[in-house]
Amino acid sequence: MAPIRHAISRVMRSLVIKFTLLCGLILILATAALMSVEFHLKRAENTETGLAHAQIITELFATTLAPAIANNDGGFLVARVGQFAERPDVSGLYAVNVSRTVLAAQGDVPVAPGMRDADALIQSALGAVDTRVETIGQNIHVAAPAFHDGRLVGAVVARVPIYAVARPAGEILRRQLLIAMTALLVFLPLVALVVRRALSPMRKLIEAARAASSRNLDIRIDIRTGDELELLANAFNRMFARLEASVKRVHRLAYVDMITELPNRERFRKEVERVTREASEGQEGAVLFLDLDRFKRVNDSLGIGEGDRLLDAVARRLREAARGWDLAHGEGGAEPSMVARLGGDEFTVLLPKVRDSADAARLARRIIDSVRRPFEISGHQVFLGLSAGIALFPRDGDDPETLLRHADLAMAAAKRSGGNAYEYFEASMNRSAFERLVLENELREAVRDDQLVVFYQPKISFKDGSIAGSEALVRWRHPTAGMLAPGAFIQAAEECGLIGEIGDWVLRRACRDAEVLRASGISMPVAVNVSAMQFESEDFARGVIRALEESGLPPTLLELELTESTAMRDPERVISQIAPLRKMGVTFAIDDFGTGHSSLSYLTRMPFDVFKIDQSFVRNMIDDEHARIVVETILAMARSLKLKTVAEGVETAEQYAALRDLGATLAQGYLFARPMPLDEFERFAAPGARAARIAG
Ligand code: C2E
Ligand code: MG
Ligand code: MG
Repeated sequence: MAPIRHAISRVMRSLVIKFTLLCGLILILATAALMSVEFHLKRAENTETGLAHAQIITELFATTLAPAIANNDGGFLVARVGQFAERPDVSGLYAVNVSRTVLAAQGDVPVAPGMRDADALIQSALGAVDTRVETIGQNIHVAAPAFHDGRLVGAVVARVPIYAVARPAGEILRRQLLIAMTALLVFLPLVALVVRRALSPMRKLIEAARAASSRNLDIRIDIRTGDELELLANAFNRMFARLEASVKRVHRLAYVDMITELPNRERFRKEVERVTREASEGQEGAVLFLDLDRFKRVNDSLGIGEGDRLLDAVARRLREAARGWDLAHGEGGAEPSMVARLGGDEFTVLLPKVRDSADAARLARRIIDSVRRPFEISGHQVFLGLSAGIALFPRDGDDPETLLRHADLAMAAAKRSGGNAYEYFEASMNRSAFERLVLENELREAVRDDQLVVFYQPKISFKDGSIAGSEALVRWRHPTAGMLAPGAFIQAAEECGLIGEIGDWVLRRACRDAEVLRASGISMPVAVNVSAMQFESEDFARGVIRALEESGLPPTLLELELTESTAMRDPERVISQIAPLRKMGVTFAIDDFGTGHSSLSYLTRMPFDVFKIDQSFVRNMIDDEHARIVVETILAMARSLKLKTVAEGVETAEQYAALRDLGATLAQGYLFARPMPLDEFERFAAPGARAARIAG
C-alpha cells in the first residue's frame, strides 16, 4: 500500500505544481500588461507635472525679479539670477527687459548680458503677455513675462532639465516590479493552496481507482462537490459495489463447499501452499486427513438429502473441535486452524503451527471423539466413526499435494486398523502404496484372466484319523511370481474392492468342486473363508444361496468361516445375517479363534457351530504354558457350548497327541497335508487311499 500512496502523492504534487505554475504565469502576464499601461500613464503624467513645475518656478522667478527688471538694477539681478540658477531643478536662467535686452544670465543659456535675444519663445511670451513652455531635448524651456505695478517690464527665461522634475522611467519600472514580485510571492502560495483544495476530489478518485485495480474493491469514495466530480464518484461507487458482489460470488463458487460452507479442496490447497511457503525456520505444522467410517451405508439408507444434512452436522462438529483446539493451543495470536471438505465424506484440517506431533494427535483424538457422539437426523440417531491420518510439515512434505497424499495414506492405515483411530504418516506407507497400486492392477487382471485357483486342505478327525472335511484356500497363479498365497493379496483385494468378486468366485468354485467330489463318492463338508467386507455386503446371503443352487451342493456340506474380529465387530448384525443360511443347514465357524476380542456374553448367543483354534496357540502349546492354557480353555468352552473344534496348524505328532488328549474334534495341518489342487485332493481323499493311510 505504501508505494501506491507514494505514487499518488507524486501525481498530485505534479498536478498542483502544474496548476500553480499556470496560474503564476497568468498572474505574471496580467501584471506585465497592467504595468505597461500604468508605466505609460505614469510617464505622461510625469511630463505634465514636470511642465507645471517648470512653469511655476519660472513665474515665481519672474515675480521676484520684476522690480529689479523695471528699475534696471543690474547688480541685484545678477545676484538673484545666479542664486536661482544654482537650484537643482534649474540648469540655466536669464532675464530680459521688454526690448529683449538680456539683463542678467546664468548657467546653460545661449545668451549673455547686453545681447538682444531673438528667441521665438520670448517673443511669443512678451507678445501674448503669457507664459510659454516648450520641450527641447532633455530640457523644458519656459518664458514667463514679468510685471511690475501692473505693467509688463520684461521676461524671465528658465531651462529646467526634465530628469530633475519628472520621475525617471527606470524608477517607475523598479517600483512596479517590486509590487508585482510582492504580489506574486503572496499570491502564488495562495494559488497553490486553492488548487490543492480544488484537486482533492481528484486525489480521492485516483486513490480509489488505484486501490480497485489492486484487488481491494471494498471502497467507497466520498465526494460532495455537487458537480461532475461528485457524479463521477457516485458512478465509481456503483461500479465498485457491483464488481465486489461479482467477485464475491465467483470466489464462493470457486472456493466454498456448497453443502457444508467449509472451504473446498482448492481453497485448502492454496492455504497449505501459502502456510508452507511462509513458514518460518523451525516452524512445524500438520495436515489431517479425515474420512468418515460407515458413511456410505448411512448415506444409502438415509437418502442424499439427509446424507447432506449429516455431512453438514459433521462439518459443524469438526469446526467446533478445531476451534476448541485453537483456543487451547493458539498462543500469542498464532494463525488459526482451517477445516475443509475435499468431497464425499473426506475432510481435512490444516494446523499452521504445532509444537510437536502430539499436538496434532490431540486434535485428531478430539475430532474422533466428537464424531463418535450420535447424530440426530430427522428423528433418527445415527452413529458414525472417523479415521484420521496426520502428515507433519516440513517433515512429511512441504507442498499441498505431498502432504495430502501422505495424510491420506496414514488415514488408510488408521482405517485398516479398524477405524475410530488416527495414524501418523510413515515413509514405509509410501512404498507399500506404490506396490499396492501395481498389485491392484495385476489383481484385476488375475480376476479377469482366471489366474485364481482354489486349493483344498483336509481336516482329520481325532477320533479315527478319517478325513472329515476340507478348507478351500485361494491361490493366485501369478504369471511371473508363481503361486501366491492369500497373505500376499487378500488385504489389497479388500482395499480396492475386489474382495467381493474374488470371494464370490471362490465360494462358487468350492461349492462346485465339493459337488463334483460328492458325485464321485467323496461326500464331505467344505469350509470357505469369508472376509469382513464380503460379509458386510447386503446381498451376502443371496450370493451363498445362489452358489448352492448353481452347484447343487446340499447346504449341510457348506461351512463358512468368519474370523473372530469380523464376527465380533457388530454381533447383532452377524446374528441376523447368518440366521437364514443356518436355517437352510449351512454351518458357521469362528476362524483364528483366540486372537480377537470376543465378548463372552455374545459368544454364548452367537449361532456358531465350530471354533477354529488359531495356529499360533497350537504351534506354541507344547513349550508355552500360556498357549496351552488358552487351548484348554477354548476346548472347555466349546464343550460346554456343544461346539465342534478344529485345531489349525498341527505340524507335529506331539501336538496331535496333546490335542487329542484334550478332546479337540478335528485337526488341520501340515502333519497330514498341505493345501493342494482339487485333483490331488481327490486322490488324497479317495476311499482306497484313506484305508491305506489308516492302515499305515
Ligand atoms: P486360515 O483360514 O486360518 O487358513 C489356514 C491357513 O493356515 C492357510 O494359509 C493354510 O495354508 C495354513 N496352514 C495350514 N496348516 C498349517 C500348518 O501346519 N502350518 C502352518 N504354518 N500353516 C498352516 P493360507 O492358505 O496361506 O491362507 C491364509 C489365510 O488367508 C487364511 O487363513 C484365510 O484367512 C485367508 N484366505 C484363504 N483363502 C481365502 C479366501 O478364499 N477368501 C478369504 N476371504 N480369505 C482367504
Ligand atoms: Mg480359514
Ligand atoms: Mg485360521
